[in-house]
Amino acid sequence: MTLSQRDQKSIWHPYTQMLSAPPAIPILRGQGAYLYSDEGKRYIDAVSSWWVTLHGHAHPYIAGKVSEQLLELEQVIFAGFTHKPAIELAEALLALLPEKQTKVFYTDNGSTAVEVALKMCLQFWSNQGQVRQKIIAFKNGYHGDTFGAMSVSGRSAWTKAFEDLLFDVMFIDTPNQDNLAALKTFISTHATDTACFIYEPLVQGSAGMLMHEPAALDELLVHCHQEGILLIQDEVFTGFGRTGRHFACDYLRQAPDLMCFSKGLTGGTMPMGITTCSAEIYEAFLSADKTRALFHGHSFTANPLACRAALASLDLLLQKETQENISRICKQHRQFRKHIQNHPKVKQIRQLGTILALEWETGTDSSYFHDLRDRLYTYFLENGILLRPLGNIIYLLPPYCITDKDLNYIYFTIEKALNIL
Ligand SMILES: *Cc1c(COP(=O)(O)O)cnc(C)c1O
Repeated sequence: MTLSQRDQKSIWHPYTQMLSAPPAIPILRGQGAYLYSDEGKRYIDAVSSWWVTLHGHAHPYIAGKVSEQLLELEQVIFAGFTHKPAIELAEALLALLPEKQTKVFYTDNGSTAVEVALKMCLQFWSNQGQVRQKIIAFKNGYHGDTFGAMSVSGRSAWTKAFEDLLFDVMFIDTPNQDNLAALKTFISTHATDTACFIYEPLVQGSAGMLMHEPAALDELLVHCHQEGILLIQDEVFTGFGRTGRHFACDYLRQAPDLMCFSKGLTGGTMPMGITTCSAEIYEAFLSADKTRALFHGHSFTANPLACRAALASLDLLLQKETQENISRICKQHRQFRKHIQNHPKVKQIRQLGTILALEWETGTDSSYFHDLRDRLYTYFLENGILLRPLGNIIYLLPPYCITDKDLNYIYFTIEKALNIL
């Protein structure tokens, strides 16, 4: 039996209709921006393997650091014990964030980083004897697949089967100069019993790389703070250079109370999530009453290997060469955007930093399940490129090590698709 056949016998894949999906492609190894299949085919990983791979696959520097760590300390309970990689990572990350972030809480993935942030906010108020349980979020937002994270995400086909079980959230539009006043009024109306506002800053990834302006978001955040509403900035996707700056918060003046990280955190090597928070949040859990503690943890909280991978990835991110690569990708994207924006099949093309999204003109139907999506996905694979369109939206999100040659080949292949498909 081939690997693919063995896979089909025993594995259930994420986000996959197993009846109709083509067999999964076995990948034997990865190097830089490339993935190599069992049939010897090479794919350019233009989506960073679900938005996580920052510096390319099997990076020798990260691999070396994780290997050393494996032989030193692979795991230790994180209640009552601590270790160097966790401490060093907390220090290194906080140094890059707005000053308001003062504490790091470790989990295993983006969804749990969001769960923790929500629990911190809700318990922040209950620890102080205040009833503030409402949550505000953006329409079309995405914050993960666990129940709390699903609840604060936009309702869609993905959440339909669970809809009655999800807690109520007030969904608002993303801000622009036209709707800001109305959004502020809405927020003020609900302010006294609202615990927090959770949002993807500047780019709503899963919704199709929808973008909004920093100035409008800033104004909305200021207003939430004036109304005493806590801010959870979900940078699970936007963190670590994706937007062209280290974090989306580097485009904003208003600092959030909590932040969530995962995806690129370990350079895409190991699963890990982080929730950071302000001193004010942290201090609301300090009490002679032991029941005011935050009762949350995971078996692998602050796994030393994942922390070591994250530290190595941060080393690489801060190197001059990586920063130059990020600028180079931004520039290349910009040029392609200008070149293609007037193509009749391009409904819209938008960019923030290394994130480029092209919306394909489909007339009326543009849902996630549009059949164009499957045709595009297959077409790019046949051309040696891994791209996973969200409905009629093709987005590019390459590892920072991708060469200009590969970028140009991807642009060329997209342009060809626009002309022939
Ligand atoms: C992917 C994502 C999550 C969930 O992260 P997982 O590690 O997949 O659970 C949360 N928030 C945002 C903004 C994301 O893009």
